[in-house]
Amino acid sequence: MDVNLTLSPLENWIEGLEQPLVISGPCSAESEEQVLETARQLKKYTNIKVLRAGIWKPRTRPGAFEGIGVVGLKWLKKAKEETGLLTAVEVATAEHVELALKFGVDILWVGARTTVNPFAVQEVADALRGYDVPVLVKNPINPDLQLWIGALERINQAGITKLGGIHRGFSPMSGSQYRNDPSWEIPIELKRIIPNLPIVCDPSHIAGNRTLIEPISQKAFDMQMNGIMIESHIDPDNALSDAKQQITPKTLAGILDRLIIREPNT
Ligand code: PEP
Ligand code: MN
Repeated sequence: MDVNLTLSPLENWIEGLEQPLVISGPCSAESEEQVLETARQLKKYTNIKVLRAGIWKPRTRPGAFEGIGVVGLKWLKKAKEETGLLTAVEVATAEHVELALKFGVDILWVGARTTVNPFAVQEVADALRGYDVPVLVKNPINPDLQLWIGALERINQAGITKLGGIHRGFSPMSGSQYRNDPSWEIPIELKRIIPNLPIVCDPSHIAGNRTLIEPISQKAFDMQMNGIMIESHIDPDNALSDAKQQITPKTLAGILDRLIIREPNT
C-alpha cells in the first residue's frame, strides 16, 4: 500500500513538547472550577505538559451529557494561563475547529466516532487548511485500518504535517475485559506502513475501568509508542462522562512513577 504523508517530528510540534507525550485531563469539561482544579493538580503532582478536556461530546446514545460547549474553551484558556499547560480538545466539525483555534487550543484531536465518517473528516480537514496546529486522529471505532489511514491522509492533504494517531481500541462485538479491544496488531501495522507517524495510546478508552489503565500504558511504552492520553478528574466517581475510567491527578502521578518508559521509536 502506498501511503505518502509529509510529517513533522513530534519534538518540532510545539516549543517544550517532548517525547513521550503525556496528555491528561477530564473526559469532559464540566465547570470552571473542575477544569482549573484538575489543571492545578496535574501541575502539582506530575510533569505532564498537555491538558485535555472534551468540550463537545459525541455520545453514542442521546440523553447523556453532550458537553459544556464553547464556554469550556474559556476555562481551558484560563487553565493554560494559570498553569502553563498546553491544551487539547476534540473537534468534530468545522465550527469546532474554528472555535478551538480562536480560543488558542494548542492540539486538536479527531474522535473515534468522527474518524469513521469521511465526510466529517473532510469537513474538519478543510477547516484546518492554512493552520499549522498539531492534530491527532483517533482510530475509528471499528477495526478498519484503511479508514484510519484515510482520515490521516485527508488531514495531511489539507496541509497539517504535525500529525499523529491515537490508538483507543475498537468496539468489541462480544464480551471482553476491555471497553474497547486493543487489537495491538492494528497500530503495529499502521506504524509499519507509516514508520514516522507518532502514535499515542489512550489506555482510558481501551480499559473502560481504572484497574487496566496502568498495564495498558506499560504495554504501550513496551511497544515504543510515542505517548499516552489518560483521563483524569478531581472527583472521578461523580464525573459526567466516563466516570468508571477516570482517575485523580494524584493516582496518575503514581502510575507515571511506576511505568517503565522506553524511548519511542520515531
Ligand atoms: C474522549 O476522548 O473522551 C472520547 C470521546 O474518546 P473516543 O473518541 O475515543 O471515544
Ligand atoms: Mn472519555
